[in-house]
Amino acid sequence: MHFGITSLIGRSTPPRKLPKSVSPDRAGILAASADSVDLPERDLDEEIRQLMLRYGQRFDIQTRLMNQQTFQAALAELLRNCPADQEIALIWIDVLNLRREFALSGSRGVEALVVHIADSLRSAVDSDALLGRFGARCFLVAMPASKSNRADRLRIQMTVDALEPMRVLGAEIRPTIAAGVAFYPADANSDEELVRFASLAASRAGGARNASVMTFDSGMNSLLLRDHQLEVEIRKGLDENQFRVYYQPKVDLITGQVLGAEALMRWNHPEWGPVPLSEVIPVAERSNLIHRIFEFGLRTALWDARRWRDRGSALPVISVNVSPANLRRDDFARLLNDIQTENSVAPTKLELEVTESMLLEDEELFIKRLRQVNATGASIAIDDFGTRYTGFNMLRQLPLSSMKIDQCFIQGIDRSQEMQSLCHTIVAMARQLKLQTVAEGIETQGELRVMREIGCEAGQGYLFQRPLPAEEFHQFLTEWPTRKRSCGFADVYQQRYGM
Ligand code: C2E
Ligand code: MG
Ligand code: MG
Repeated sequence: MHFGITSLIGRSTPPRKLPKSVSPDRAGILAASADSVDLPERDLDEEIRQLMLRYGQRFDIQTRLMNQQTFQAALAELLRNCPADQEIALIWIDVLNLRREFALSGSRGVEALVVHIADSLRSAVDSDALLGRFGARCFLVAMPASKSNRADRLRIQMTVDALEPMRVLGAEIRPTIAAGVAFYPADANSDEELVRFASLAASRAGGARNASVMTFDSGMNSLLLRDHQLEVEIRKGLDENQFRVYYQPKVDLITGQVLGAEALMRWNHPEWGPVPLSEVIPVAERSNLIHRIFEFGLRTALWDARRWRDRGSALPVISVNVSPANLRRDDFARLLNDIQTENSVAPTKLELEVTESMLLEDEELFIKRLRQVNATGASIAIDDFGTRYTGFNMLRQLPLSSMKIDQCFIQGIDRSQEMQSLCHTIVAMARQLKLQTVAEGIETQGELRVMREIGCEAGQGYLFQRPLPAEEFHQFLTEWPTRKRSCGFADVYQQRYGM
C-alpha cells in the first residue's frame, strides 16, 4: 500500500518549473505533487496556496509525516487489507523533552529535534511502514510484525533505538522517550483500539531515561479503568473533605528532641476504607489533582502548626512532600509565600521534601525551582535518598539542607555489615555537603543504636512514633519529653553530657 503525497492530494499532472519565490518546503510539496502546467504566476501562487492548504490538512508540515486523521485512515485501511497470517505492530513514541528543548533553544531547537526524529524513523523502517505524528510530541509507526516473533520484537526495539542523540545549535540533544507497542489482532480489534493500547503502553513505560519499549498487556486496560475511577473518587474526596493530614515526628538521635514533623496525607474512603498513598499519589500526579493535594496539605499543616504554637508548644519545622508536577508550576514559589503569609508561620519553619527521581527528570527546571524555593526562606530535604543515583556534583548544585536516608537501608541494619558501610558512606558524603542526615523508618533499638554510631543526626520511625492526627500530635509534643526515656534517649543523653 502506498500513501504518497500525490495519491493523497489526488493530482496527476506532469512536473513543472518552480518560480524563484517558492521555499524549499513548498518546493518539496510541489515536486511531490508531480504537477506541471504552464500557468501565469498569479494562478500558480493560488495553486501553491491551495496545495499547501490541502497538504497541511493531511500532513504535519514540520516533519512531512501523516497527521492524526490521515494516519488513522491509513491504519484502518492497512488493517482491513491485512492477510490472515500477518500481524501489525503499532509503536507509540512519546518525546518527553520537547518543552525543555523549547526553553533551552527555542522553536528552532524543537523543530530541528522533531525533524531529526522523523528522519531517523523514516530511515529505520521499511517502505511498507506507516509513519505519523499526533500533536507535538507523539510519533507513530505501524509495521508488519508479530507479537510472538523475537526477530520482529527486536526490529521494533531497533526502530526506537534509531532515535539517537543529535547536535542542535552546537549542543548535543538526546530525545527522551517513552515508547509502547500493541499488536493487531493479538491485542486490539480495530485501528482505534490499536492506537489507544499502544499509547497506554507508552504511558506505562516510565519515560525519563528509559528507552525500552513497553508491550501492551490486557491488564493495562483494566488498570486504566481503575485509574479513572480512582481519579473521580479522589476529586470527590477532596471536594467532600475526606482527606486528612497526619504528622510524624523527626527527632534528634542523641537528645531525642523533636526537630520537626512530617506532614503525611491520609485518605479514608467512605466505602473502601483507608487507601494507601502509593495508589493515590501516582493517579493524582497523572491528573492535576496533585496541585490540590499539595495546597491542601501545606495549608492544613501550617494551620495545625500555628495552633500547636498558640497552645504553648515549641513549633517544630514542618516538612511537606512535593511531587515533580507541583514544582513544574511557574507560580510555585509565590504559592508557598502566599500560604505561609496566610498562616503567619515563619518561612524558616517550612521544609519541602523532594525525591531523587524528580531530579533525574528535568535537572535544570528543578534546580531553578529549588533555588526559588530556597529564596523564600524554606529549606529543602532530599527524600528517600539512595533509591536512585544522584551524583555528588549534582547534589552540590542544589540548595539542600538535609538528606533523608531511605528506610530500605535502615531496616535490619544492625544485622548487615554491608548496609552499615553503605550508610557510613552516605553520612560521610552528606557531611561533606554540609547536610543534616535523617534516617527514615527506624523501628528497633538495634537500628537506632547503629544509626547513632554511624553519626546520623536525626531519625523518624515507628520506634519513636507512628504518624498521628493533628490533635494527638499536639499531645505527643507535650508528653514526649518524659516518654522519650522509654525509647532509650535518657541513657545516651547521660553518657554524652554526664547528666
Ligand atoms: P515518605 O515521604 O518517604 O514518608 C515516609 C513513609 O514511611 C510514610 O508512609 C510513613 O508513614 C512511613 N514510615 C514512617 N516510619 C516508618 C517505620 O518505622 N516503618 C515503616 N515501615 N514505615 C514508616 P506513608 O505515610 O504511607 O507515605 C508514603 C509516601 O507517600 C511518602 O513517603 C511520600 O512520598 C508520599 N506522600 C505522603 N504524603 C504526601 C503528600 O502530601 N504529597 C505527596 N506528593 N506525596 C506524599
Ligand atoms: Mg517524605
Ligand atoms: Mg521518604
